Amino acid sequence: MLSSLALVIAGAQVFESPKLRLNLDNGAIVHAEQMQAGGRFSLAVRFRAVPETTETHGWRHLLEHLAAKGPAKEVDRLVESHGMFLLAETGREWTLFTISGPSDGFATAVEAMEQVLADREYADDEVRAEVTVLAEELALVESAQRASWEAWETLFGAAGLSPFGSLEAVERADGAALRQLASRVFVGRGAVATVAGDIEPRVAAERMKRMLQRLPAGSPEPLAIRQSVPSGVAFASTVAMPMPPVRDPGFLATLGAAMGVSSVQPGLVIGTTPSAAPGLLTIGSKSGDPARQIRKAIEEGPDVLAELGLRSAKDWLARLVGSAEGRTYLRAILLPESPAFDPDRWKQDMDLGTARSDVARALASLRRTVEP
Ligand SMILES: [Zn+2]
Repeated sequence: MLSSLALVIAGAQVFESPKLRLNLDNGAIVHAEQMQAGGRFSLAVRFRAVPETTETHGWRHLLEHLAAKGPAKEVDRLVESHGMFLLAETGREWTLFTISGPSDGFATAVEAMEQVLADREYADDEVRAEVTVLAEELALVESAQRASWEAWETLFGAAGLSPFGSLEAVERADGAALRQLASRVFVGRGAVATVAGDIEPRVAAERMKRMLQRLPAGSPEPLAIRQSVPSGVAFASTVAMPMPPVRDPGFLATLGAAMGVSSVQPGLVIGTTPSAAPGLLTIGSKSGDPARQIRKAIEEGPDVLAELGLRSAKDWLARLVGSAEGRTYLRAILLPESPAFDPDRWKQDMDLGTARSDVARALASLRRTVEP
C-alpha cells in the first residue's frame, strides 16, 4: 500500500474520554482511548523506519507487504471475517498497520496484528512474487505522486528517498535479508500501539501490551531526521513548499494555502504527511503545469483563497481529530517524538493559533515560489 496523507478521514464525534497510556520496558508505547465511534474502533501499530540506502531502497515497503499477510497467509481472512479491514502503509519515518471495524472484532484484530508481527521465515519465491505485486503497484502510481517523490529526493537526498522504493533494489532482496530487516523493524523502540473507539481502555491496553512486550527493544538506530527545509521550489511538474512540523501552527497555514488554491483550481493534487519533523508539501497537477495554475488562482483573489483555505484546513483538522481513525493515526506517528501529544489540545492550539493572515502569508510565499 502506498503512503498517503489521511486527508479525508470521515468519522465520529469526540467527547471527553477515558484513556490509558503504558510505557513498556522495551521502549514501546501503548495508548487506548474510549470514544463514541458508532460501535467501532481503529487500532494502529507503528514501527520506526530503519534508514534505507539506494541499495536497500524499498525493502521496508516489501517487508510491509509480506508481513501484512501473516505466516499462514490468514490475516486477511481473519480480519474480513469480522467485517474489519487492514491498511498497511510505509512512510519515510514509519511502517504502520491499521485495523478498523466493529468493536466486537477487537480481540481478533489484535490476534491478526500478532500474526503480522510474528518472527518468521520469508521464502524466496514468496519474496519474488511480491516484487511483481510492487511492480504492478508502481505502474498505477499517478504522475503527481512520482513528481512529489522526485522533489523530496532532490531536496533531501538520502533522507528524502521515497517510501515506495526502487524496483531495482527490491529485486535484490531475498527471504533471509527480509527476515533480518524484520528483526530491526519490529522492535520496541519507536513502536506505538494505539486504539480509539468503543472499547474498554484498560482491557484493550493490557491486550496490546501483551502484543508488544514480547518484542526486543532493538538497537538505537536513529533515523537521519530532517532538521530544516530549503525555501519553496517550483519544479516542472510539482511545486514544493517547506512544511513545518505538525505541531507548529505554520503546518495548518501551509495546508490552508494549498487547499485554498486547489479549491479554485481543480486537478491540483496536494501531497504531504504529518510529521514531528519539517518536511514538504507538494502540489502537483493532473493537467501538467501546477505553477501556472497556482499563479492564476492567487492572482484572481488572494483574500478569498485565504478564507477558503483556512476554512478547508480547519474542517480537515476537525474531521481528523474527531474520528477514531484520525486519532489513532496521529498518536501512532507522533507519540514517540512528542510523548505529551494530545489530539484535542493540538486541535485547540491550531484553531486558536491559525488566522486568515497566517494563510495569507503562506499564500504569499507560495506565490513567490511560482513566480516565472
Ligand atoms: Zn505497497
